[in-house]
Amino acid sequence: MLILHASSEIAPFAKTGGLGDVVGGIARPIAKLGHQVAAIMPLYRKVREAHWPIKPACEFDLKCGETVRKVRIWQGEIPGSASAAYFVEQGDLFDREAMYGGGTGDYPDNAERFSLFSRAALQAIVALKLPVDVIHAHDWQAALIPVYLKTVHAKDAVLGRIRTLFTIHNLAYQGVFPSHFMHVAALDWSLFNWKQLEFWGSINFMKGGLVYADRITTVSPTYAREIQSQELGCGLEGVLHDRGSDVFGILNGVDTEEWNPAKDKLIAAKFTAADLKGKAACRTALRRRFALPDSPAPVFGVVTRLVAQKGIDLLVEAMGELIGTEAQFTILGSGDDSLQRGLVAAAQRWPRQVAVRIGFDDRLAHEITAGADALLMPSRWEPCGLSQMYAQLYGTLPVVRRTGGLADSVTDGKTGFVFDQASIEGLVGGVRKAIGAWRDPAAWGAMVQSAMKLDWSWDRSAKEYVALYEKLALAAPQPAP
Ligand code: ADP
Repeated sequence: MLILHASSEIAPFAKTGGLGDVVGGIARPIAKLGHQVAAIMPLYRKVREAHWPIKPACEFDLKCGETVRKVRIWQGEIPGSASAAYFVEQGDLFDREAMYGGGTGDYPDNAERFSLFSRAALQAIVALKLPVDVIHAHDWQAALIPVYLKTVHAKDAVLGRIRTLFTIHNLAYQGVFPSHFMHVAALDWSLFNWKQLEFWGSINFMKGGLVYADRITTVSPTYAREIQSQELGCGLEGVLHDRGSDVFGILNGVDTEEWNPAKDKLIAAKFTAADLKGKAACRTALRRRFALPDSPAPVFGVVTRLVAQKGIDLLVEAMGELIGTEAQFTILGSGDDSLQRGLVAAAQRWPRQVAVRIGFDDRLAHEITAGADALLMPSRWEPCGLSQMYAQLYGTLPVVRRTGGLADSVTDGKTGFVFDQASIEGLVGGVRKAIGAWRDPAAWGAMVQSAMKLDWSWDRSAKEYVALYEKLALAAPQPAP
């Protein structure tokens, strides 16, 4: 089969978060399983300026409302794989400073930008005669692809036989736009109703993907269930619930070359599960780095965006109680001002136990992941989460709230510690449980060994995606709603 990934981000070309890593990360393992993979994304200015070896492949016009836009498709390769990468060049829409918007917010024409991207991906298949079997569309930016396929192209000899898989990486971002963009996006007004694209008087791109895709996945099995509930469904729980039997959760993988304690060049000493001496050296180095005194108590790490989703407000409020446990806390993050201030104030008040760095610092993230004994993630929701997986590979036991991908990747008492409530009591309870286990070195050591043996490679996720593509290729097309 030929699988075409359509995504607004593909690492290493361009990424703002996990989405780019996923698409860049799974191409090679899927190809290893015997299928052909290609990917398509917009040609942003930063991609053009990076001078990747790409060459023009075809050109066509697309009408966006009253404007005719010239589109050029470029072709290159996803580095380290033999998979083709295609880029949609449309200067007015994509040759800009940023991918989604500037300091004043999202670009006001994002509906036009990403509807054109989705249409161009389909047009490229036709123009280049690509024998695509499945289009794997990611997040709201590519969510209209299943819509166009099942409406405009339903009877098309080439496009009409393609099946679609749509993956939600973050349901909180849906691509909701004023209804007048229906015209610019070349969508028929008959689709503007509550069963298809309309959402409280606006167009909702993600809703379109959820309604029209043949199958839907998200990035963990637990999140796949949670988004069908009112609490985490972001208003689309009804649509997702209706598609329930077509919704699957496939846990993300991580880059096990970059995150490998036996090879990591960013940490004080390398180590393996068989020889953990280096980990002790990393802990000592971490204390020095954060100017914390030596202590017989464990070191907890936190590496995160500082936002309410991640439960950092709970951490700030719980700090007084956590100090009583004598544990130390090394915290790296950036985000909301009030959370930054709260953490910095805690570090000033308890300098022997709390140390904070505000900012984004990859090296320090590796140092904390390697040097801490436990990693704290009190998230309110977490579609997948990566840091808990990195931590386990470094023998740093995660202490996590039972939600989304955290619930699916941490086994309480075996490869980490899981608490239920997103509350101060829940968080403090989780930390106390970890400290209790820490006091029994044999039991702790056994948990470290179990955690370090976990397989978080992309190969595991790729197998699950391929099983789904294979079923999809054999299945009858999902009838248009
Ligand atoms: P999300 O995508 O919601 O931020 P994830 O856990 O999926 O959460 O991924 C976050 C990634 O970004 C992790 O690799 C984490 O280590 C990294 N990260 C987050 N904040 C920082 C920071 N301040 N400095 C360095 N790395 C960070």
